[in-house]
Amino acid sequence: MTDSRTPHMIALATLDEYHKIARKVEKEREEELYKLRKKLEVLAAGEKRELHSPSKIPQPQVEVVGVHAVTGRDSVWREVPEMLRMAKSARANAHTVHTSGTRVGATALSHTDMRTGCDSIQAGCNVEHRFRCHDVHAEVNAISSLCRVLAPGVKDRLGPYWLRAILVVSERNFTPCGGCMDWIMQFGGPGCCVFTCNLLDKDPIRVDDHAVVKMWYAESLMPCYPS
Ligand SMILES: [Zn+2]
Repeated sequence: MTDSRTPHMIALATLDEYHKIARKVEKEREEELYKLRKKLEVLAAGEKRELHSPSKIPQPQVEVVGVHAVTGRDSVWREVPEMLRMAKSARANAHTVHTSGTRVGATALSHTDMRTGCDSIQAGCNVEHRFRCHDVHAEVNAISSLCRVLAPGVKDRLGPYWLRAILVVSERNFTPCGGCMDWIMQFGGPGCCVFTCNLLDKDPIRVDDHAVVKMWYAESLMPCYPS
Protein backbone atom coordinates (compact mmCIF):
# COMPACT_ATOMS: atom_id res chain seq x y z
CA MET A 1 0.00 0.00 0.00
CA THR A 2 1.46 3.34 -1.01
CA ASP A 3 1.68 6.25 1.41
CA SER A 4 -0.46 9.06 -0.04
CA ARG A 5 0.84 11.65 2.44
CA THR A 6 3.02 14.53 1.29
CA PRO A 7 6.57 14.82 2.72
CA HIS A 8 5.33 17.73 4.83
CA MET A 9 2.56 15.59 6.35
CA ILE A 10 5.00 12.74 7.01
CA ALA A 11 7.40 15.16 8.74
CA LEU A 12 4.58 16.50 10.96
CA ALA A 13 3.47 12.98 11.88
CA THR A 14 7.08 12.05 12.74
CA LEU A 15 7.42 15.14 14.89
CA ASP A 16 4.18 14.32 16.64
CA GLU A 17 5.42 10.79 17.30
CA TYR A 18 8.71 12.19 18.64
CA HIS A 19 6.86 14.47 21.09
CA LYS A 20 4.73 11.55 22.27
CA ILE A 21 7.84 9.47 22.99
CA ALA A 22 9.59 12.42 24.71
CA ARG A 23 6.55 12.97 26.96
CA LYS A 24 6.46 9.27 27.81
CA VAL A 25 10.18 9.23 28.69
CA GLU A 26 9.80 12.40 30.79
CA LYS A 27 6.81 10.91 32.64
CA GLU A 28 8.72 7.71 33.36
CA ARG A 29 11.69 9.73 34.62
CA GLU A 30 9.45 11.76 36.93
CA GLU A 31 7.86 8.59 38.28
CA GLU A 32 11.31 7.07 38.91
CA LEU A 33 12.44 10.24 40.71
CA TYR A 34 9.28 10.31 42.79
CA LYS A 35 9.80 6.68 43.84
CA LEU A 36 13.45 7.40 44.68
CA ARG A 37 12.48 10.44 46.79
CA LYS A 38 9.90 8.40 48.68
CA LYS A 39 12.51 5.69 49.31
CA LEU A 40 14.97 8.30 50.60
CA GLU A 41 12.34 9.82 52.88
CA VAL A 42 11.63 6.39 54.38
CA LEU A 43 15.37 5.73 54.84
CA ALA A 44 15.93 9.18 56.40
CA ALA A 45 13.01 8.70 58.79
CA GLY A 46 14.44 5.32 59.84
CA GLU A 47 17.92 6.76 60.35
CA LYS A 48 16.50 9.59 62.46
CA ARG A 49 14.56 7.18 64.67
CA GLU A 50 17.69 5.08 65.09
CA LEU A 51 19.80 8.09 66.04
CA HIS A 52 17.33 9.16 68.68
CA SER A 53 16.82 5.72 70.20
CA PRO A 54 18.19 5.24 73.74
CA SER A 55 20.87 2.82 72.48
CA LYS A 56 22.31 5.68 70.44
CA ILE A 57 23.08 7.97 73.35
CA PRO A 58 26.18 9.89 72.25
CA GLN A 59 29.44 8.31 73.33
CA PRO A 60 32.90 9.84 73.51
CA GLN A 61 34.61 9.46 70.18
CA VAL A 62 38.33 8.92 70.39
CA GLU A 63 39.25 7.79 66.89
CA VAL A 64 38.97 11.25 65.36
CA VAL A 65 42.55 12.46 65.33
CA GLY A 66 43.09 16.02 66.54
CA VAL A 67 39.49 16.48 67.64
CA HIS A 68 38.16 15.78 71.09
CA ALA A 69 34.64 14.93 70.03
CA VAL A 70 32.46 15.12 73.12
CA THR A 71 29.44 13.46 71.56
CA GLY A 72 28.32 11.40 68.66
CA ARG A 73 28.37 8.02 67.00
CA ASP A 74 26.95 9.27 63.74
CA SER A 75 29.25 8.39 60.83
CA VAL A 76 29.28 12.07 59.97
CA TRP A 77 31.94 12.47 62.69
CA ARG A 78 34.46 11.01 60.26
CA GLU A 79 34.11 14.19 58.23
CA VAL A 80 34.72 16.50 61.18
CA PRO A 81 38.53 16.83 60.97
CA GLU A 82 38.37 17.94 57.32
CA MET A 83 35.37 20.20 58.00
CA LEU A 84 37.24 21.79 60.91
CA ARG A 85 40.41 22.30 58.88
CA MET A 86 38.51 23.97 56.04
CA ALA A 87 36.42 26.14 58.40
CA LYS A 88 39.52 27.40 60.20
CA SER A 89 41.16 28.21 56.88
CA ALA A 90 38.03 30.08 55.66
CA ARG A 91 37.80 31.94 58.97
CA ALA A 92 41.18 33.53 58.28
CA ASN A 93 39.58 35.34 55.31
CA ALA A 94 36.63 36.76 57.26
CA HIS A 95 35.89 40.42 56.55
CA THR A 96 35.25 42.21 59.85
CA VAL A 97 37.04 45.51 59.31
CA HIS A 98 34.13 47.87 59.98
CA THR A 99 32.21 45.98 62.59
CA SER A 100 32.37 43.28 65.27
CA GLY A 101 35.80 41.84 64.64
CA THR A 102 34.44 38.37 65.35
CA ARG A 103 35.88 36.04 62.76
CA VAL A 104 33.73 33.03 61.95
CA GLY A 105 34.42 30.11 59.63
CA ALA A 106 31.96 27.43 58.56
CA THR A 107 31.79 24.33 56.40
CA ALA A 108 28.72 22.72 54.89
CA LEU A 109 28.65 18.99 54.06
CA SER A 110 26.23 17.42 51.60
CA HIS A 111 24.67 13.99 51.84
CA THR A 112 26.35 11.27 49.80
CA ASP A 113 25.17 10.97 46.22
CA MET A 114 24.22 7.30 45.92
CA ARG A 115 25.00 7.25 42.21
CA THR A 116 28.59 8.48 42.52
CA GLY A 117 29.35 7.66 46.17
CA CYS A 118 30.65 11.23 46.61
CA ASP A 119 29.76 14.02 48.98
CA SER A 120 30.85 17.66 48.90
CA ILE A 121 32.22 20.05 51.51
CA GLN A 122 32.27 23.80 50.99
CA ALA A 123 33.56 26.49 53.31
CA GLY A 124 32.53 30.07 54.04
CA CYS A 125 33.45 32.97 56.30
CA ASN A 126 31.50 35.93 57.62
CA VAL A 127 31.54 38.99 55.38
CA GLU A 128 30.42 41.97 57.42
CA HIS A 129 29.03 45.07 55.77
CA ARG A 130 29.14 48.58 57.18
CA PHE A 131 25.32 48.47 57.03
CA ARG A 132 24.92 45.45 59.29
CA CYS A 133 21.68 44.27 57.69
CA HIS A 134 23.73 43.26 54.64
CA ASP A 135 26.11 41.01 56.61
CA VAL A 136 26.69 37.55 55.19
CA HIS A 137 27.10 35.01 57.98
CA ALA A 138 29.66 32.23 57.60
CA GLU A 139 26.99 29.50 57.72
CA VAL A 140 24.99 31.10 54.90
CA ASN A 141 28.18 31.61 52.91
CA ALA A 142 29.08 27.91 53.25
CA ILE A 143 25.55 26.65 52.45
CA SER A 144 25.36 28.93 49.38
CA SER A 145 28.73 27.64 48.19
CA LEU A 146 27.55 24.06 48.64
CA CYS A 147 24.45 24.85 46.59
CA ARG A 148 26.73 26.24 43.89
CA VAL A 149 28.70 22.99 43.46
CA LEU A 150 25.73 20.57 43.53
CA ALA A 151 24.37 20.12 40.02
CA PRO A 152 20.57 20.02 39.60
CA GLY A 153 20.67 16.25 38.93
CA VAL A 154 22.58 15.67 42.16
CA LYS A 155 20.09 17.79 44.13
CA ASP A 156 17.24 15.78 42.56
CA ARG A 157 18.80 12.58 43.84
CA LEU A 158 19.56 13.99 47.31
CA GLY A 159 16.07 15.45 47.77
CA PRO A 160 15.14 18.74 49.42
CA TYR A 161 17.44 18.19 52.40
CA TRP A 162 20.80 17.98 50.63
CA LEU A 163 22.69 19.53 53.58
CA ARG A 164 23.89 16.80 55.94
CA ALA A 165 25.95 18.80 58.43
CA ILE A 166 27.37 22.22 59.16
CA LEU A 167 30.37 23.09 61.30
CA VAL A 168 31.00 26.57 62.70
CA VAL A 169 34.23 27.75 64.29
CA SER A 170 35.05 30.95 66.16
CA GLU A 171 36.64 32.24 69.35
CA ARG A 172 33.58 32.17 71.55
CA ASN A 173 30.75 29.91 72.67
CA PHE A 174 27.77 30.12 70.41
CA THR A 175 25.29 28.28 68.22
CA PRO A 176 24.10 29.61 64.84
CA CYS A 177 21.74 32.60 64.94
CA GLY A 178 18.05 32.30 64.09
CA GLY A 179 18.58 33.47 60.50
CA CYS A 180 21.25 30.85 59.88
CA MET A 181 19.12 28.18 61.57
CA ASP A 182 16.39 29.04 59.07
CA TRP A 183 18.81 28.17 56.26
CA ILE A 184 19.93 25.02 58.03
CA MET A 185 16.34 23.86 58.63
CA GLN A 186 15.36 24.62 55.05
CA PHE A 187 18.18 22.73 53.34
CA GLY A 188 19.19 20.25 56.06
CA GLY A 189 15.92 19.58 57.84
CA PRO A 190 15.51 18.74 61.53
CA GLY A 191 18.07 15.88 61.37
CA CYS A 192 20.92 18.08 60.09
CA CYS A 193 24.02 17.91 62.33
CA VAL A 194 25.26 21.23 63.69
CA PHE A 195 28.85 21.22 64.98
CA THR A 196 30.36 24.13 66.85
CA CYS A 197 33.94 24.70 67.90
CA ASN A 198 35.17 27.43 70.22
CA LEU A 199 38.87 27.86 69.48
CA LEU A 200 39.46 29.15 73.04
CA ASP A 201 37.92 26.01 74.50
CA LYS A 202 41.01 23.82 74.63
CA ASP A 203 41.36 20.40 76.11
CA PRO A 204 42.86 20.90 79.59
CA ILE A 205 45.42 18.17 79.02
CA ARG A 206 46.49 18.89 75.47
CA VAL A 207 46.58 22.57 74.65
CA ASP A 208 47.90 22.30 71.09
CA ASP A 209 45.38 21.92 68.29
CA HIS A 210 43.12 19.69 70.34
CA ALA A 211 39.87 21.46 69.68
CA VAL A 212 36.58 20.58 71.35
CA VAL A 213 33.76 20.06 68.89
CA LYS A 214 30.16 19.87 70.07
CA MET A 215 27.21 18.56 68.13
CA TRP A 216 23.49 19.18 68.08
CA TYR A 217 20.73 18.10 65.77
CA ALA A 218 19.07 21.10 64.14
CA GLU A 219 15.71 20.24 65.67
CA SER A 220 17.15 20.51 69.18
CA LEU A 221 18.23 24.10 68.42
CA MET A 222 14.87 24.93 66.78
CA PRO A 223 12.42 22.67 68.63
CA CYS A 224 9.30 24.56 67.56
CA TYR A 225 10.24 25.16 63.93
CA PRO A 226 7.14 24.93 61.70
CA SER A 227 7.20 21.87 59.46
ZN1 LIG B 1 23.94 33.69 61.54
